[in-house]
Amino acid sequence: MPAMPERMLVLFDIDGTLLRTEGAGMTAMLATAHELFPSKTFSFEGLSISGRLDRLIWKDLMIAGGVEPSVELHELFRHKYGEHLRRGFSHTSKSHPLTGARELVESLHAHDGCDIGLLTGNYEHTGLLKVAQAGFSLAPFQFNAWADDGHHRRELPPIAMSRYSAHTGRETNSSRVIIIGDTPLDIDCAHFNGCLAIAVATGHHPIAELASHKPDLLVQGLDNWTEIASWITSR
Ligand SMILES: [Mg+2]
Repeated sequence: MPAMPERMLVLFDIDGTLLRTEGAGMTAMLATAHELFPSKTFSFEGLSISGRLDRLIWKDLMIAGGVEPSVELHELFRHKYGEHLRRGFSHTSKSHPLTGARELVESLHAHDGCDIGLLTGNYEHTGLLKVAQAGFSLAPFQFNAWADDGHHRRELPPIAMSRYSAHTGRETNSSRVIIIGDTPLDIDCAHFNGCLAIAVATGHHPIAELASHKPDLLVQGLDNWTEIASWITSR
């Protein structure tokens, strides 16, 4: 009897891949820092942001502003950052889905052989807020890994995979895991773990730069989502 084909687990990055927020996250982080420490000056200038985890960006922001980062402060900051982001979205900030992103998620969700998750540098509460604000249903995103799950993006794919195994009772084979993201660190975290990488040039990294990191599939955007879905489901 032929073996059943193994299912694919498709993990989406958020910012620059599924959506764009016009800097709502950074604005809310700065507003939070200024609320907690009104006498200090905070700036993202010179800090590395792209593809990194929010808790590490937070730590760099505090140190650059002359504040000692602590576990307790991080808890408070994370909570207040969520409030600022929510307030921003209810006033001026917008979360825009990128072209084809909702269609790709929905078509993979409807496909029998695919399961879906988020693999992101966002905290869980702020990541889900951004995704919901962009008009995505949260239902497809069942197996996720977040900023709090590791110290480096490379640590996140095994987390999503172990959640997948714990929930479904199925083994995950890393060669059946696809990570879709807009930065070299998305490609790196996929390949470091033996997963496949789809790179999308809708973030801050031009297509030529992404090409030099050798993703398994490189696309300008998710506009041609039917082709991307076929590439995934025909594997
Ligand atoms: Mg991104």
